[in-house]
Amino acid sequence: EAKHKGKSAYSRFTPEMTEISHERLQMESYMRKAMELGEFELYFQPIIDTHSGKLVSAEALLRWNNLALGMVMPDRFIPLAEETGLIIPIGEWVIQEACKAARNWQTLTGNPIGVAVNVSPRQFRDPGFTDAVMRALDASGLSAELLELEITERLILDNSIETADILRKLDRSGIRLTVDDFGTGYSALSYLKSYPFDTLKIDKSFIQDVLTENDDASLVRAIITMAHSLGLKVVAEGVEAEAQTHFLKEEHCDYSQGYFYSTPLPEQDFIQWLDTNERAST
Ligand code: C2E
Ligand code: MG
Ligand code: MG
Ligand code: MG
Repeated sequence: EAKHKGKSAYSRFTPEMTEISHERLQMESYMRKAMELGEFELYFQPIIDTHSGKLVSAEALLRWNNLALGMVMPDRFIPLAEETGLIIPIGEWVIQEACKAARNWQTLTGNPIGVAVNVSPRQFRDPGFTDAVMRALDASGLSAELLELEITERLILDNSIETADILRKLDRSGIRLTVDDFGTGYSALSYLKSYPFDTLKIDKSFIQDVLTENDDASLVRAIITMAHSLGLKVVAEGVEAEAQTHFLKEEHCDYSQGYFYSTPLPEQDFIQWLDTNERAST
């Protein structure tokens, strides 16, 4: 017992720490019931062709509506979902729902609209992952080319044969693969030539100050040039102002995403947005 080891050992446990672990336990127990209570919801944020201004796809972003906690944002609960392994059933649900939604948009608009889904490392490494993805495609009837999986550089850092195999298997099935938060992962760039990625998504921290910070502008330019010479498409995330879209157009950035176009929307609002957007652009 810490108590019997004297004051120094005991005082390492501050009241704040007790509170934090209590909050974690509380959140974990709520999260275990969240699926069956139907507390998870997908929001969708438009991804726009920078040049034509037309919608090409949407990113699915998870929200957790809990009675006691209110609306919980992913940065607050995804890490815990990863630690506990709950990300595996939750992530499977996300992929199923995202595929169903995208198939529905195609039915409603007559246009193929892609959907991008975030995949965390623990989920990706689960042996059932690729089968779960294929089942979601089958069940929804969505064509594989319309599903995009977003993976962070963190995952690639492990450099394992399994990671490479899974990426190749997904690529062969026609699914698009995107490096999310590109530029923040401190990883060697060499993985870009050995792994079958289709797209780099430039982290919003670079886009934020692209008009005021020369260094950020240089980095964004360099990333776009490099990506294109490797045959990759580029998405800029966190686009909030019209002036940023002019910069991105000039620099030939393929796609843009951010509050300037739309915040992430609940599915029904996204469908409404599709309708308005389509009428505005025809
Ligand atoms: P991310 O994949 O990089 O997603 C982009 C985040 O930037 C989203 O935050 C989005 O709401 C926010 N964002 C979009 N446009 C703008 C903008 O113009 N300005 C600013 N400041 N922010 C913008 P969100 O929804 O809170 O998600 C945070 C992170 O949580 C995501 O980052 C992703 O890593 C993770 N995440 C979200 N949904 C899922 C999921 O279903 N599964 C997994 N594994 N991770 C998820
Ligand atoms: Mg993402
Ligand atoms: Mg590919
Ligand atoms: Mg990102």
